[in-house]
Formats: sequence, C-alpha cells, structure tokens
Amino acid sequence: MPDEALKAKELKTTRRREAILSILRAAQQPMTAEDVYIKVLPQMHMSVSTAYRTLATLTEKQILLRELGQDGKAYFRLNDHRHCHFLRCTSCGETIQLDGCPIEELEKEWAKKTGYEITGHSLEISGICPKCAAKKGRKNDAE
Ligand SMILES: [Zn+2]
Ligand SMILES: [Zn+2]
Repeated sequence: MPDEALKAKELKTTRRREAILSILRAAQQPMTAEDVYIKVLPQMHMSVSTAYRTLATLTEKQILLRELGQDGKAYFRLNDHRHCHFLRCTSCGETIQLDGCPIEELEKEWAKKTGYEITGHSLEISGICPKCAAKKGRKNDAE
C-alpha cells in the first residue's frame, strides 16, 4: 500500500522509506538517526549511510522534522503540522510531547514590538522523569 505521506509529496514509495516512516509513526518521541537505524535493521537490511540518506530525503520533503536536542544530537520526528514542545529527562533521555505552546501569544507581541515577522522558535524543557526521580530517591535512602 503506498504511503499517504509519501504520495502527498510525490515521493516514490519504497520499502525503505515506508519502514522508516512506520518506525517514527509508532514512536511516541523524536528519535536520533541511530535509534531509527537500530529499529529498522530487524525489519530489513540497510546500510547506515542509506538509512541516513533516507532520513535526509524525508526531511528535505518536510515529511520529517529534524531538530537539534540539548545533547547536540539531531532528532527526527514526523511532521504532523502540529506545533508542540518536548519535555526531556536529562537522566534517561525519555522525551514526552507537551500539549500547547506558551510562546505563541508572546510571539505576536514581539512581532508587533520589533516589526519582525517571526517564523518559528524552538524550546525544549528538561527535567527528571518520575522513574528516574524514584530511582534517585532509593539510592539516597541506601546511602
Ligand atoms: Zn528519566
Ligand atoms: Zn512553541
């Protein structure tokens, strides 16, 4: 079955592209190219450079979004045309999607004040997830 996202962008549907897209679709969080590659390998054989090239093509066509995380790594996620932000655990790296954007209203204000046409922003919120916090708590108890 041809992938709708690929068809919409007039990209040929290949098993490779479909496999990578389905992995990112199933993922609830942005993934590094490395993560994607590790997940795609059991499904089909692909060289690292092919996987990276496929990710680059899909990003070029804006089917995927590429964002730089605070760890300096590039993260890929599906471009669902929904603007949102991510909360990332600095301990285990788990990332969850947050609803809404606190900056949109401010952007309008800043645009008015500065005369700029504001075209976007990025914001990553970091913290310690409940699992890591619990682990840390237990460790402290033992000491
Ligand atoms: Zn964590
Ligand atoms: Zn925002």
